[in-house]
Amino acid sequence: MPRRCWGGCGDEGRHGGARLAARLSRAFAPGGSLADSEQRVYWLDSPAAPEPLPPLEGEARCELAIVGGGFTGLWGALLAAPDQDVVLLEGDRCGWGASGRNGGFAEASLTHGFENGLSRWPDEIDVLQRLSTENFAAMRETLATRGIDAAWEEPGVIDVATRPHEVEWLAEAAAAAREHGEQATLLHRDAVRAEVDSPTYLGGLWHHTGGALVDPGRLAWGLREAALSDGVRIHEHTNVTRMRRDGDGVVLETASGRLRARRVLLATNAYRPLVRSIRRYVVPVYDYVLVTEPLTDEQWRAVGWERGQGIADSGNRFHYYRLTPTGGEGGRPAPGASPRILWGGYEALYHFRNGMRPELEDHGPTFELLASNFAATFPQLEGIRFTHRWAGAIDTSSRFCVTFGKALGGRVAYAVGYTGLGVVASRFGARAALDLLHGRDTELTRLELVRSRPIPFPPEPLRYAVIQATRRALARADERGGRRGLWLRGLDRIGAGFDS
Ligand SMILES: Cc1cc2nc3c(=O)[nH]c(=O)nc-3n(C[C@H](O)[C@H](O)[C@H](O)COP(=O)(O)OP(=O)(O)OC[C@H]3O[C@@H](n4cnc5c(N)ncnc54)[C@H](O)[C@@H]3O)c2cc1C
Repeated sequence: MPRRCWGGCGDEGRHGGARLAARLSRAFAPGGSLADSEQRVYWLDSPAAPEPLPPLEGEARCELAIVGGGFTGLWGALLAAPDQDVVLLEGDRCGWGASGRNGGFAEASLTHGFENGLSRWPDEIDVLQRLSTENFAAMRETLATRGIDAAWEEPGVIDVATRPHEVEWLAEAAAAAREHGEQATLLHRDAVRAEVDSPTYLGGLWHHTGGALVDPGRLAWGLREAALSDGVRIHEHTNVTRMRRDGDGVVLETASGRLRARRVLLATNAYRPLVRSIRRYVVPVYDYVLVTEPLTDEQWRAVGWERGQGIADSGNRFHYYRLTPTGGEGGRPAPGASPRILWGGYEALYHFRNGMRPELEDHGPTFELLASNFAATFPQLEGIRFTHRWAGAIDTSSRFCVTFGKALGGRVAYAVGYTGLGVVASRFGARAALDLLHGRDTELTRLELVRSRPIPFPPEPLRYAVIQATRRALARADERGGRRGLWLRGLDRIGAGFDS
């Protein structure tokens, strides 16, 4: 999810020590906060989920094939159709990947935050900022004109400081935000606690502009519906097992069919790529999320949170959290409605050789750590239960934002590597990848962001060792007043890192 650096070691909680050990051992025990939780994605666990579309059977043809039915693939379909004849193949259900599992923080930035963009592309940062704003506005407009109800609200996001050094960081960030035209309010401790009450808060920075909160499941289903009504043929439960050149086109093979396309947009994110070289640039990093039961009136009053802002910690290891939508205005809960709290992040796990397996999604110690940190943040909610727990793979790149490429002599293009900030950037990713695919010379294809590649991750076993060393270094920096040690400074110098 949003903005900060990649998850940490997981061996210390928000407040470490014996209190943590006691809480951890209790969370899954009978009566513990995780005891009744089920491994289900809250956003997808809804009666609004559409019926599955039939898999591809036999032979088919199209102009543009899209592999992957997350936000990148769905935006690609919507941007290309109805001018082009489009077929989208999704291995599971549309929105089943990261797109249906995220926190729903829809931030405008295309570069994983202004500072990351500035440090990597100083010469084009103004253009990138303008394109971020335009992309965000175009997304909002499409949802409105296509009648996609994704519970889009713009209450703003508060970055909170929970350690003294983070208070200083927020003051610097506030100055930078104002300099670049963003509306942001620096909140001292009492002011932030008046918005949302946690004894851990020492200060906050409330970003009023440049972001929304959405229901990602409804967003994916709405985009899917709009694409279908534009004539896109979508096949779900259709995993593409092989992709090969065929004359002036490409053939995609699946278990029960074969699709011949003139061009292919790959939108497979962190999943095993059909183009091998993507593995050098993108690693899957599991991020974990919990959702509570609906808050009672008493619990609700104890936290405040009347205006429903999104919240993110300021450390390297950060939680992101928000209320689930209840149909109220401007992010506020609807009168009489009981929101839940979505609580995710902090520890993100990489597995040897880009490991991705269903069993990696249910990692007890990580959920226990999340539950423990939740209890430390909101002690007044003692006794609250979590109902949902899940994980999703973040497509982490060493530059923290989308990466593009072409394959099979230009017949295939891809956009991957959003590194936890892809809810809005995926629309831009799809647009730029389509321009590349059609050989168009546009403002987007001329961007250094689109033309350049991140520093590749080293091969295994070095990859695993480097990532673990970085996780430990990030955790240490959090505990040592934010000071980045030798290892992180070295990575900073070569322009590489890890982030979620
Ligand atoms: C837990 C979590 C929290 C996050 N929080 C936020 C957030 O709050 N804000 C934000 O901006 N971003 C967030 N992100 C990141 C964001 O969700 C992603 O960047 C974005 O959804 C990427 O969309 P995508 O379409 O590229 O990938 P995905 O949604 O992962 O879609 C890829 C699709 O490709 C399909 N696929 C893969 N291989 C094949 C194949 N061979 N054949 C057919 N289909 C295939 C998969 O089934 C999948 O559905 C979060 C991610 C996670 C995991």
